[in-house]
Amino acid sequence: MGGAIIQSRDLNLHYGKARALKNINMDIPERSITAIIGPSGCGKSTYLRCLNRMNDLLPEVRITGSLLFKGRNIYDPGEDVVELRKQIGMVFQKPNPFPMSIYDNVAYGPRIHGVKNKSELDSIVEKSLRQAALWDELKGRLRDSALSISGGQQQRLCIARCLAVEPEVILMDEPASALDPIATAKIEDLMRELKEKYTIIIVTHNMQQAARVSDRTAFFLMGELIEYDYTKKLFENPTNRRTEDYITGRFG
Ligand code: ADP
Repeated sequence: MGGAIIQSRDLNLHYGKARALKNINMDIPERSITAIIGPSGCGKSTYLRCLNRMNDLLPEVRITGSLLFKGRNIYDPGEDVVELRKQIGMVFQKPNPFPMSIYDNVAYGPRIHGVKNKSELDSIVEKSLRQAALWDELKGRLRDSALSISGGQQQRLCIARCLAVEPEVILMDEPASALDPIATAKIEDLMRELKEKYTIIIVTHNMQQAARVSDRTAFFLMGELIEYDYTKKLFENPTNRRTEDYITGRFG
């Protein structure tokens, strides 16, 4: 496993008066899968959204501490948020393809970032769909609406759309919770392939999923990072009593 690509240092987040993240210190290694687990409302999504600055546009949000991406603080005033989101992409709970063709969905990001050449776009679309294990399924229907494919395919298309701008980190917020078991297994297989090149951080309330796919797991509770370790260690031999209570189903 490589070095830390993301480092949180005493990260705190308040929504108005409510403190949703409490002194989070966490180093996330590159080219691996890190799962964030914990009961509903513990701050998992809030933490994930901090990583590509999806929270600080909300009026009542206050963030202190630092969040380093490859050593630079992404909350520095000079940070270019558009560029940051190219490097740290996000896939949401519900597949959200744009109401346009499969091709245009994948070409959307590259076009925004200035790619105009048709053959260049064609090759980005093919490469991204291949990386998302969708090319063989969809190559004959690139002009069809993205809304005409299955939910599982739509979610992999959203992953392809994210890959098309060549991110380094992919944030996934419950990416399989709206999918059936077969589509879920495909997403998990895809994650295992993608971690060869990308850093993946996944929020999931599904502990089995975290245990199946991740290299490391972070357990959050009421805004605090309670335990963070190799997944096998955290599930088989947790250090903290509250981690043990949660993973054995005593609460949550
Ligand atoms: P999780 O992802 O673990 O379910 P969240 O990060 O969504 O938890 O929420 C953490 C806490 O922050 C909860 O108490 C939630 O109600 C609160 N919260 C989340 N989003 C907002 C928001 N936009 N405004 C105010 N409070 C929020």
